[in-house]
Amino acid sequence: MTKKFLGKLHHVDPWETLAKGPREAMASLWEKYLSEVLEASAKSQRLQKLRRSLEKAADYPKIFQDWNDLPVEERARVWQQLIAAAKEQAESARDACVRCGECCERSSPTLLAADLPLFQQEVLTWNEVYTLRAGEQVTDREGKPAVLKEERLKIREVPGSRQCWFYLAATGSCRIYDQRPEQCRRQQCWGEPAPPPRVEELLNRRSLLGQVSEVWDIIEAHEARCASSIILEALEEVAAGRAESGDLLFEALHFDHYLRQMLQRDWGLSQEAAEMLLGRPLPEFLGQHGITPVLNAEGVFELSPRKE
Ligand code: SF4
Ligand code: SF4
Repeated sequence: MTKKFLGKLHHVDPWETLAKGPREAMASLWEKYLSEVLEASAKSQRLQKLRRSLEKAADYPKIFQDWNDLPVEERARVWQQLIAAAKEQAESARDACVRCGECCERSSPTLLAADLPLFQQEVLTWNEVYTLRAGEQVTDREGKPAVLKEERLKIREVPGSRQCWFYLAATGSCRIYDQRPEQCRRQQCWGEPAPPPRVEELLNRRSLLGQVSEVWDIIEAHEARCASSIILEALEEVAAGRAESGDLLFEALHFDHYLRQMLQRDWGLSQEAAEMLLGRPLPEFLGQHGITPVLNAEGVFELSPRKE
């Protein structure tokens, strides 16, 4: 078993290195020690953030700069100074989010019923959230493809990435940190990962909009024609040679498309808000199943043959 280096000078090898080695050797021991005491991998953004603030507070750049010219006793003194600063930092950051942004860059949160007040306070609007309907293909927490058994509402991602919409990469900060969703609050990268939310905790369109009859009627009318289960069944039927099910697919595609247009034109909603109300456009859903609907110049969808 490899012996842990705990940053103490009486360990023969590290001490020899610290007493006689150049600044690069000291820096490498420092990095190893930090990873141990801060309980994070050297590459994690959490460690990098803690490291930046502690090195600034402990005057590390100057220690590094002067190291080669320091006598042994002075090396021992400044090393102990670094160790004390690291321990203090580790203690103050124990079991706490240090806002490094690593989890925000990896994915956006799924909303829970506990997040409902964020809509009432207008921290979240329909423009920042989208709906993943039951039956949609997604990537699970381990990065494997999965099919959703129940609906979810999620914060949008920055286009072309998995980064949360509210994360500002330039400043490494969350725009709504003090009012961040419940799932962000449950993140604990420093320990065992938080268990996934229970199904009954998930926020869905019914709990958000079920009381707004004008909106809910639209959602129900859309589900009645375009629910994933209906579309998947029609696809199976078409694949089995029952061409009449193709009519149902066409009807659903046109209903989905023109309903979104109506919401944008008559209700003044953005495309994003329509996605929150109706889920992702049906052509995207069909695309997950190897079908590419294309709207022709007459405003009619054409389907390319199913790819096996
Ligand atoms: S919870 Fe997320 S933002 Fe907070 S320290 Fe961990 S990875 Fe960074
Ligand atoms: S809401 Fe804020 S804390 Fe939560 S993932 Fe997005 S940027 Fe990070």
